Amino acid sequence: MGRLTAIVLGAAAGGGFPQWNCRCPVCCLAWSGDRRVKARTQASLAVCADGKTWIILNASPDLRAQLQATPALHPRANAHGGLRGSPIAAVVLTGAEVDQTAGLLTLRERQEFCVLATAETLAALDANPIFRVLASDLVSRRAVALGAPFALPGGIEAELFAVPGKVALYLEDDDPALDAETGANVGVELVHGGRRLAYVPGAAGVPPALRARLARADVVLFDGTLYRDDEMTATGTGGKSGRRMGHMPVGGDDGTLATLAGLPGRVILTHINNTNPILIEDSPERRQVEAAGFEIAEDGMEIVL
Ligand SMILES: [Zn+2]
Repeated sequence: MGRLTAIVLGAAAGGGFPQWNCRCPVCCLAWSGDRRVKARTQASLAVCADGKTWIILNASPDLRAQLQATPALHPRANAHGGLRGSPIAAVVLTGAEVDQTAGLLTLRERQEFCVLATAETLAALDANPIFRVLASDLVSRRAVALGAPFALPGGIEAELFAVPGKVALYLEDDDPALDAETGANVGVELVHGGRRLAYVPGAAGVPPALRARLARADVVLFDGTLYRDDEMTATGTGGKSGRRMGHMPVGGDDGTLATLAGLPGRVILTHINNTNPILIEDSPERRQVEAAGFEIAEDGMEIVL
């Protein structure tokens, strides 16, 4: 039996790193070619268990470049000998944010695959007519209930679970709930051959039930958006706190390092915002993360369970 394998297609938060309109201190290092930082595309993970059938977790706006950079995802002749085909059999969405869904538009060239997400996320896609470019005779949309195991193509068992967070930015009202546990923001648990991976690119907090779920995973890829809750305001790059954006900070007493300390499996931070100093190889914040035993995702990182 093949081993569950994951490839980090992108490890940056929305906007990518560096971000097209940003001259924050971390982006400036990237713009100047400083070797202490590595550019990253927007967060996405590809997973496979049979060596040939791949599942994409979140379709980022950078998906086309990510596929080009990943030979395992290059096109394949189809089963009938036709010239068009792809190892990608399904896309699983953890929410309806632009950085989670816009890449679906990159997959519009009449290729059969399945989109799996909660009813809330599918409703956001259904409400936006641009996604009709994914021809419904080829691209099926399947609603998945929270906490209900389902089979993915290629022999992976999966489950979606609620993670504290908020609705997509473009769906917010004047006073959005910031740590609701609904189908609008979820994590994905994958199981194959007794090995378990959890993908949680956005989390406003970690209630006990979520921590217990993460504690049974061999590998957890977790929200590393901001190091400090006030990082955007402190750097002058934005007016919102991390928690207002639905992301708990990495550092601090109630941050990710403290909250997830002691988990038995590997913890890899991903969905890292371009303002986050953990992107800099010798930064004190990066050393804190590494001293705590956490890893920092980068594009192309391969994880074999
Ligand atoms: Zn920046």
